[in-house]
Amino acid sequence: MNSFQNARRIVFKVGSSSLTYETGLINIRQIEQLCRILADIKNSGRDVILVSSGSIAVGTAKLGLKARARSMPEKQAAAAVGQCELMYLYDKHFSEYHHKVAQILLTRDVVEDPLRKQNVQNTFESLLRMGAIPVVNENDTVSTEEIEFGDNDTLSAIVASLTGADALVLLSDIDGLYEKNPAECPGAPLIPHVPAITPYIESIAGGAGSSRGTGGMATKISAAKIALGCGCVMAIVNGSKLETLYSLLEGRQVGTTFGGDLYD
Ligand code: ADP
Repeated sequence: MNSFQNARRIVFKVGSSSLTYETGLINIRQIEQLCRILADIKNSGRDVILVSSGSIAVGTAKLGLKARARSMPEKQAAAAVGQCELMYLYDKHFSEYHHKVAQILLTRDVVEDPLRKQNVQNTFESLLRMGAIPVVNENDTVSTEEIEFGDNDTLSAIVASLTGADALVLLSDIDGLYEKNPAECPGAPLIPHVPAITPYIESIAGGAGSSRGTGGMATKISAAKIALGCGCVMAIVNGSKLETLYSLLEGRQVGTTFGGDLYD
């Protein structure tokens, strides 16, 4: 038995690289499968919260911009368009399984202000009580450097802490944490379980990964610190192998798991 098996409330984070192709267009099969499996997990009696990136990438493609939006106003405009498209897709696919989605857009200043933080927590609780699936993103259209989370790995860990989640699952473009970045060292072994974040673990996290991802492993390790700090276990799982989520929640070893005495 592991802590994922018992988790009643789970935050899932999906990155742009799992939702879009290199072209920037939506990976339809991927988003359909993600919604089907999360709807099923919700049906099994667990609270599901989804933190989804992708607004800028999806908006850039929808607007037909040739290159990735560069200036801040361009990115924010692309995010405004892309966020609508993403929510339309989530609503459409979750509705097929009779689930309701709710959009929550956050900036750092909201969670740093006690009153606004409490308001957001109350909203999450009400939504979950009503059976909705909150879909969370950074509020990219208003975010500036001073008030941004910077990356959705960190945001998802903060959401896990705000909502008292039992587990955080980061869906990545890779199977988990390796002893070295496999992009540079192809034979590097996967680390199945990280009981605690040590300086060694921080040292192997490296820099940002793909052109469409933002944080690489470094932000995932920071997320693990936040999650573990509030008693929430975490896993990094390959977002292109979504069926493995069932195995993880049945107590089997998948990807890299972090924290707790998972396998006793
Ligand atoms: P996503 O948001 O989809 O998770 P990222 O690009 O942000 O994508 O992060 C995953 C990337 O981190 C991997 O594809 C890999 O290139 C990079 N990376 C750096 N160090 C490591 C490591 N030690 N183990 C695994 N991946 C690593």
